[in-house]
Amino acid sequence: MQLLQNQIPKEVSRITETLAKAGFEAWIVGGCVRDVLLGRKPKDWDITTNANPQQIQDLFENTFYTNEFGTVGIVNEGVEDETLKIVEATPYRLEGKYSDARRPDSVEFGQNIEEDLKRRDFSVNALAYNPVSQQLLDLYGGIKDTSAGIIRAVGEPEERFGEDALRIMRAIRISAELGFSIEENTKQAMKHCAGQLSKISKERIRDEFIRIINSSKPKDALFLAHNIGILKYIAPELEDGIGIEQNQAHSFDVFEHNVRAIQHAADKNWSFTVRLAALFHDIGKPASRRWSNEKHDWTFHGHEVIGAKMTKKALESLKFTRETVDTVQNLVRWHMFFSDPDKITLSAVRRIITNVGRDHIEELVELRICDRIGTGRPKEQPFRLRKYQAMIEEALHDPISVGMLAVDGKEIMKITNEKPGPRIGWLLHALLEGVLDDPKRNTKEYLTEKTLEFAQLSDKDLKKIGEAGVEKRDELEGESLKEIQRKYFVS
Ligand code: ATP
Ligand code: MG
Repeated sequence: MQLLQNQIPKEVSRITETLAKAGFEAWIVGGCVRDVLLGRKPKDWDITTNANPQQIQDLFENTFYTNEFGTVGIVNEGVEDETLKIVEATPYRLEGKYSDARRPDSVEFGQNIEEDLKRRDFSVNALAYNPVSQQLLDLYGGIKDTSAGIIRAVGEPEERFGEDALRIMRAIRISAELGFSIEENTKQAMKHCAGQLSKISKERIRDEFIRIINSSKPKDALFLAHNIGILKYIAPELEDGIGIEQNQAHSFDVFEHNVRAIQHAADKNWSFTVRLAALFHDIGKPASRRWSNEKHDWTFHGHEVIGAKMTKKALESLKFTRETVDTVQNLVRWHMFFSDPDKITLSAVRRIITNVGRDHIEELVELRICDRIGTGRPKEQPFRLRKYQAMIEEALHDPISVGMLAVDGKEIMKITNEKPGPRIGWLLHALLEGVLDDPKRNTKEYLTEKTLEFAQLSDKDLKKIGEAGVEKRDELEGESLKEIQRKYFVS
């Protein structure tokens, strides 16, 4: 118990102590107790108390209360740790009847902690710890289940999933995040109640889906969601890939390929958008599959175009943000980009960068890696991939040129009163040479002064200095390209 006590941050124990001093009971409750027992850092800290919302607000300086569930946000000022900035305190709750499988008809406050724990979803989430009395309350075997890694419904499983069908998805999400398994009766009840997820709002489904995608085990979770029968309420298009055999380069059907692709993104800890794009990247395959007599194999021409449209629709229906929809759809659209570094030109690489945007080109390469690993028969070709990445960096890098200067040709003509002609070019390159020697010189004032100086020179002398500038530029540009190649070990 001492161990638990030591892990409660003072920002949290300060709140339970203040409540206790005012004569109230206060418990730390829910996922945070579970996480502390597991040695994980909690995402947030929840407190439950017999004080009502008004009494809670009266005890603390900075609070807000903007919901209908009695939850008061207590603000810890000047705290760096995001998980401690706001601690939520909620009066003991007693939930009323559920007529619609998604929210209680009424929220009533309970009299004691036992009533509050009874309405919680899983035994591992129904633990409460009182830092003042140092008591750990475990009415449903939550400690045992936490150490065994088991998710078990509190009370009668079917009744609990019938009250709020989102709990089915929460069970899968928590199992994906913690690597827990689901107890058999609980699992059967989830199957039985799966259809009720259709009544849950897309926003609530999306938020759990995001956490499944960001977990370390999206593959297991997505297979489980399918087996339980809820995947069709999340993204039914994914299930169209089940049993869709692919060409000879693949070992798995389209569904499993997509799921293995996202698992690779999770294993690499890649971004949320890469994970989503990996999951959806081949979603257009079932609709585009044709048999080719010539190849004696299946073909999927245009599946990335169909897939991008399907991805947009799926993500919009889950109420993802515009930015997420656009990015993921674009990654799916361009995931088939031609990437043979022996045949591709730099301008083709530039076109791909324009298509997905500079900010997402790295993600597109990662998606391609997920795609390859997800076939189950990856052709190891790290050298070619590195060569391609070097080409991307080359295409992205700003070339060394007079374009970098703080003055341009027009300004030079104004400063010198000279007409357009070769002298302007020589002048620019003469300035460039000086700037390449010392980048601090790249200011309007300095270059204006130098311009006036160079303008005094004869054609012959100016040409000589200008050509020296061109030479220097070519030399440095060549070196910086070599540097890129060295970075990817492809020189
Ligand atoms: P995390 O903090 O990692 O998101 P969590 O289990 O704490 O996980 P929260 O959404 O923060 O999840 O909920 C806090 C607690 O509230 C849970 O641990 C659980 O006791 C209870 N709870 C949340 N949602 C439900 C629900 N739909 N039905 C019953 N109890 C719930
Ligand atoms: Mg929590």
